[in-house]
Amino acid sequence: MIQNKVKIIGLTGGIGTGKSTVSKIIRDRGFPIIDADVIAREVVEIGEVAYLKIIETFGEQILNNDKSIDRKKLGNIVFCNPDSRLALNRIVHPQINKKIKDEILNYSKNNDIIFLDIPLLIEELENFNEAGIQFDEIWLVYSDIETQLKRIIERDNTDYESAIRRVEAQLPIDEKLRYANVIINNTGSIEELINNVVRELNMF
Ligand code: ADP
Repeated sequence: MIQNKVKIIGLTGGIGTGKSTVSKIIRDRGFPIIDADVIAREVVEIGEVAYLKIIETFGEQILNNDKSIDRKKLGNIVFCNPDSRLALNRIVHPQINKKIKDEILNYSKNNDIIFLDIPLLIEELENFNEAGIQFDEIWLVYSDIETQLKRIIERDNTDYESAIRRVEAQLPIDEKLRYANVIINNTGSIEELINNVVRELNMF
């Protein structure tokens, strides 16, 4: 076990509920926070183990001119094909888990609390547990679905149809509620959100 003394808090939400905004508030207040999206990009950088395996599996057609992986192209392939998605996950997940564990170890030298910002934490909870990454608490950033859709449409300059497709690709936010130890309500203003986050941080 790598997580004896430190408290590991998983931060998640649904697309557009405000997880990235909360992540920034937490980081700005000096807490260490590991960003799974950043790690997911790092493990497929040119020359990394996952990079080489992805080319072996999907061919050079998924490369950009500069030989980096065209994540959009790869995303489109796996979005429509569950077998490809499984194959990609089998390549990428072990590398992501390894890097997360390394970062936990590193941060745990100087911190009692470490946040892990993971968009699909609840969907992938079993995989993380099997990989030896256990969460002492799960914090869920919550907003109702209409607010969620409105924020996605504004942030990504997209339309209602595409926003709803992306929301429906995830476990519904209302189903995620029962996994949460702490619910960060983000149905109001940014100021209210900051207050809600700071109130929880002050509990430590
Ligand atoms: P997520 O990371 O969960 O997908 P974001 O943190 O990117 O969501 O938030 C989605 C969008 O909504 C962003 O443009 C963000 O600035 C905006 N946003 C988040 N919370 C609020 C809020 N309370 N009031 C207004 N806009 C918000």
